[in-house]
Amino acid sequence: MTNLILLGPPGSGKGTQSKRLEQKLSVIQLSTGDMLRAEVASGSERGRETKALMDTGAFVPDEMIIGMIASRVDKKDCANGFILDGFPRTVPQAEALGEMLVEKSLKLDYVIELTVDDEAMVERICGRYTCTQCGSGYHESFQKPAKEGVCDTCGGTDFSRRTDDNAETVRARLLAYHEQTAPISTFYGDIGILKQVDGMTAIEEVTRQLENIVS
Ligand code: AMP
Repeated sequence: MTNLILLGPPGSGKGTQSKRLEQKLSVIQLSTGDMLRAEVASGSERGRETKALMDTGAFVPDEMIIGMIASRVDKKDCANGFILDGFPRTVPQAEALGEMLVEKSLKLDYVIELTVDDEAMVERICGRYTCTQCGSGYHESFQKPAKEGVCDTCGGTDFSRRTDDNAETVRARLLAYHEQTAPISTFYGDIGILKQVDGMTAIEEVTRQLENIVS
C-alpha cells in the first residue's frame, strides 16, 4: 500500500501527475476539487453553496472536506493506497488527516511538493480544458489534441472548462494557496517527510522525478 500527498498551487500539475502515478503505483487519485465539482453537478443544496465559494476562489469549510475524505478512504478502491490531490489545503486539515490516518491504522509514505512560478500558473490554468467524456486534460497553447477538436484518448468532441479557471478567480486561488496552504510545506518539512520536485519542467520530466521518489 502506498499513500501520498501531492502539494502545489493551482495549475502546478497535481491532477495531471496524479493520473500518471495512479497507473504506475496502482493506487487511486482522490481529488477533493473533483469530489466538490461532482457535488455541484448533482444540483444539491450543498452543491449550490459549494459552487458559490469555489467560484470566488475561497475554500470550502474544513469540516466538510475532512468528512468527505474520511469516508472516501474507506472505500474498496483505496485498498492499494491513494494520492491526495488538493487535500490537505490548510494546517487544520493536515492535522485532521494525521489523526484520521492513526485511527484507520494507515500511514503516509510521501508528501511531494511541485514547486512552480506563480505568474506562469495564470496562463497554464486559463488555457486548460477537459474532454467531457473521459476527463483527459488539454491546454490551448501547451497541449493541444493531435487533431483539433477531437480527444486523443477517446475520440470525444465535447470539451469543457472549469468556471473557476478565469484570471480573476485564479489570482484569488493563488492568494488562498499562499496564505493557507503554503504553511503545510513547513508542517510536513518539520516532520521530515517532505520532498520537492521542480514543477516547471516538462510533464514527462516531472513524472520521471516523481517516479524516482516513489519507486
Ligand atoms: P481544485 O480542483 O483542487 O483546484 O479545487 C477547486 C476548488 O475547490 C478550490 O478553489 C476550493 O474552493 C475547493 N477545494 C478543493 N479542495 C479543497 C480543500 N481541501 N479545502 C477547501 N476547499 C477545497
